[in-house]
This record gives sequence, C-alpha cells and structure tokens, in this order.
Amino acid sequence: MATYLGVDLGATTIRAVVGDRAGQVVGSHRTATPRGPTGIAVTEAVLDTVREACADAGVDPAALVAAGIGAIGPLDRDEGDVVDTPNLPRVDRIPLVGPLRSLLSTDRIILHNDATAGAIGERFFREGADHLVYLTLSTGVGAGAVVDGHVLDGWQGNAAEVGHVTVDPDGRPCGCGGAGHWEAYCGGANVPDYVSDLYDGEATSLPVDDPDAGLDAAAVFDADAAGDAFATRVVDRIGRWNALGVAAVVHAYAPRIVAVGGGITRNNPERVLRPIRERLPDHVATTVPEIRLTDEDGDAVAKGALASAITGGTGAPADR
Ligand SMILES: [Zn+2]
Repeated sequence: MATYLGVDLGATTIRAVVGDRAGQVVGSHRTATPRGPTGIAVTEAVLDTVREACADAGVDPAALVAAGIGAIGPLDRDEGDVVDTPNLPRVDRIPLVGPLRSLLSTDRIILHNDATAGAIGERFFREGADHLVYLTLSTGVGAGAVVDGHVLDGWQGNAAEVGHVTVDPDGRPCGCGGAGHWEAYCGGANVPDYVSDLYDGEATSLPVDDPDAGLDAAAVFDADAAGDAFATRVVDRIGRWNALGVAAVVHAYAPRIVAVGGGITRNNPERVLRPIRERLPDHVATTVPEIRLTDEDGDAVAKGALASAITGGTGAPADR
C-alpha cells in the first residue's frame, strides 16, 4: 500500500498523520510543541512525531511516497523553514523540509502555511469546492484560500496571512510588532492581554488581577457560558473583530464557503460562528458566503497536509 505523510506544526501542538492514497488515516501521533530554546529543538520534536506516527501505522519512514507540511508562518520556502514566527518568540528559524528529507527517502515534500494546508484538506475531504477559505482561530489567526480551483500559496508560501490584517490602526499591539491586527484581539495568545485592556473594575469570576493564574481564551469563553457579564462583553468584542476580519477575507477571495476551525472555534463553535454569521451581512458589500464549522477533531491541518502530499499540492480529488 502506498502511504503518505501529513504534518501540522502548530504553536501549541505538533501532529503527524500517515494515510493511504484515498486519505484514510492509518497512523497518527501528536505532541506538545517545544517553546524552544532553539528552532532545532522544534525540528527534533517534529521528526520524533513523524517517527511515532509511522510506528503507529507500521510503516517505515523511508517507504513514504510523499509528505506535506502545514506550519505556523512566516515561511521561507526557498529554505523549507519557518522563520521569526511571532507565536514562538524565542525561536528564530525552524528547519523543516531539509531534516524531513533526511528522515524520509523522498524529495516530494511540500511546505505550506498551516491554514493553506487546512484549505487543501477542506477541498479534498469535504466537497472539492473551487472557491473556499479555511480560517483558523487558534493561538493565532490565519487563513488559506482556494480561488478558481487554485490553491493560493503566495510568495514564499505566505498567502492569506489574514491575522495581520489591520482592523484598527490605533489598536493594540500584535505579536508581529504591528498594531491593531485581527490576531491582536482574537488570537488565543493575545486574548489574556486583551482582557486586561478591556477590564475596568467590574465584578468578574476571571482572575484579571493575577498574571500567574493562567487566564486564557478557554477560561473567557467558559465564564461567558456561565453568565459572567464581563466575559460576555469580551466574547462580544471578539465576535465583532472576527466579523470584520472575515469580511476582509470575503472581499479579498470571494469564497463560496468559509470553513472555520482551530481550537477556539472547536471548543466554542456556536459562540464563535454565530456572531460572524449575524454580523457579516452588515460588513460585506459582495456575496455573503456560507460559514461552516470544520476541524472538529483538531486534525484539519495535518489531514490537509496529507491531502497535499497525495495530490501534489492541489487538493483536487481528481489528482489523487
Ligand atoms: Zn500582526
């Protein structure tokens, strides 16, 4: 049986899946992404995750036909590396394609932005749509686009880095060094600081005064669900920024479908998607797309990378 590899290098989790030509997963593994101290430590964790996924599948890494990688950006596709990613601030360069080539015995390794891999998977596994955007709301915010049946990778693989679209030029700092970017409000890594910005002394169950309490996006959404009025105000603001961001995506790529994944969406699908669906018609001057949930198992990027390996980067089921 011909087997293929898909890898998702995320800011918090590394996932690897091994699958057959139809995209059926036959082995997988996941591990926490090291916070450093070097990019090489992250590379080593990726290689270990691949070895474990291959062991789970009972496949020799050297027998894999092709591999796809979906990685946090920015990318240096010439070198096959991740460079200066704002979500791992202590790490400057993470070599990926070169070390993976040494482990496997194939040159067929394609590196994508993680959300681009998500779009490829959406095209391959869901319905082969020719006009779609995959949006991830996770540690960061990112998108991948299929336009007129073509996957947009962009120069160095950095197309559709929509998390760094400016939604408020006078806004709060983003991890990339910019100001007022979508991700500065809605990326999970930035939510705790945004909560502090919004807090003005009202009663709340959130540990807003204790920087060591581990406040995160999940806690904010949980408190909202439990009826905490301040948390509800934060979640409402996040919903407004998400609607503005999705409107920018719609105007840029004219998708028929926006498939939304990522951990924040997965854990709170209704409270993330409903504000986008409700507000989008007010912000979009063109055709409003279908907004749907995807990535329910958290493997959308890894399986998209697998689909890229199978199809040579197109995600078109006909290229299987
Ligand atoms: Zn930014």
